[in-house]
Amino acid sequence: MTEILIENVIRSRRRTIALIVTPDAHLIVRAPLRAPDAVIEAAIREKSGWILKKICEMKKRPQAVPHSYGEGEIFWFLGRPYPLHIADDGGTTIRRTDRLVVPRTIRPDIPRAIRHWYMEEAAKEIRSRCMWFSMMTGYSPTGIRITNATQRWGSCNHRGGLNFSWRLIQAPLSIVDYVIVHEHVHLRQPDHSKRFWEKVEGLMPDYRKRREWLRENERLLRI
Ligand SMILES: [Zn+2]
Repeated sequence: MTEILIENVIRSRRRTIALIVTPDAHLIVRAPLRAPDAVIEAAIREKSGWILKKICEMKKRPQAVPHSYGEGEIFWFLGRPYPLHIADDGGTTIRRTDRLVVPRTIRPDIPRAIRHWYMEEAAKEIRSRCMWFSMMTGYSPTGIRITNATQRWGSCNHRGGLNFSWRLIQAPLSIVDYVIVHEHVHLRQPDHSKRFWEKVEGLMPDYRKRREWLRENERLLRI
């Protein structure tokens, strides 16, 4: 049998053991503070079939290739591919036409400049979608912040502010909208209870399909 490697054991004041296979195909164990190692090992043995299946599934999902910032390399914006073009036209700012046009003068810090561009574009797009969904839901965030998060596409803080990762803007608009609706509903319903999902479904009847897309493709967004 394939050996199952534990990436991390997180102990907390919980009563049960939970096994989580991350999108990177790592196993994380959540366990009660005083659970003996033998009990954790037994739980893993018992669920080994499920764990191996899940690891295999995660490995098959599409994976992002780190950017090398070469001519013609694809950059995603709202679900569309834009080949990178390093331009010698004397321009000073990044532009999105049918390509992502980056003036050569920005060198050597093209990665930073592109990230900065993504953040600004994400801010514009996400703020305007948030305005629309605030109107639709009647829930208004106290603020909207664009973050550099690599795992959480959206989150909601206790002061009623919403955070979104700039990386989300690489996904199609329907997926961006799903994350925005999800976080707006959290403004009233902080958990993931049945009521929470009912509210999401009321606003976005096909949310399951969008959530599934995000689960399948989230690694693509982690550039
Ligand atoms: Zn949530």
